[in-house]
Order: sequence, then C-alpha cells, then structure tokens
Amino acid sequence: MNKHYCPICGYELGRVYADGVICLCCGNESGYDDDIEKEDIDYDEYLVMLKIRDDFEHKKKPVPEHVTTYLKNARYEKKTAWAILRRKWKQEGCAWKYGPGPEGWGMEMAEAQLRNIDKP
Ligand SMILES: [Zn+2]
Repeated sequence: MNKHYCPICGYELGRVYADGVICLCCGNESGYDDDIEKEDIDYDEYLVMLKIRDDFEHKKKPVPEHVTTYLKNARYEKKTAWAILRRKWKQEGCAWKYGPGPEGWGMEMAEAQLRNIDKP
C-alpha cells in the first residue's frame, strides 16, 4: 500500500495531501496555506483579475482564459509553494503544530521525517 506523506514536512498523513487536509506536524492546510501569491505581482491588477473571475463565476459563465491564466501565473506552483513552507517551518525550528507530537520530537526526528518527501 502506498504511504502518503506531507510534501512539506514528510509526516505520514495516512491520506493524500489534497484540499482541506491539514498536516498535524507542520500545520499547513492543502489548498490554503500552499496557495501562495508571488511577491512580485502587480497587486492592484491581481485584485481586478480576482474580481473579474468572481463576477463570471457568480453569473455562472465561463471565466475568460486570459483571466484564468493570469491568476494561475500569479501564484506559485505547488512544488515551489511547498518548498517555501518547508523553509519557513525549518526556520521556526520544525515545531510540531497540533497535539503533543511523538515522544522526543526534535530536530533529529524532523530531519529523518523530511527524508520521506523524496520517497517514491
Ligand atoms: Zn507537514
């Protein structure tokens, strides 16, 4: 059986890291925390594009492709977003976010857990 690991910290999730899944270890929610806007976007333009998309969705009309593409390009690819969150989690000392965590949790266990990420 395939094991499912958090793509950010390597914690064994027991399920695929899909939208709404929150990792108990690093505390990141899939589809939310890993939905990161790029820093160098024109924020005013970005907000206009968001509004256009919402208007079309509200009217149940197909969103123009250039708007969809713009919004997609304004956010980091998942892999990049996960790398950003991983760096942040490490900078914060790999703290266990929800519950007490496993006995003896610390940097050593965190490093071992991080090696799960590259497992096939
Ligand atoms: Zn995690």
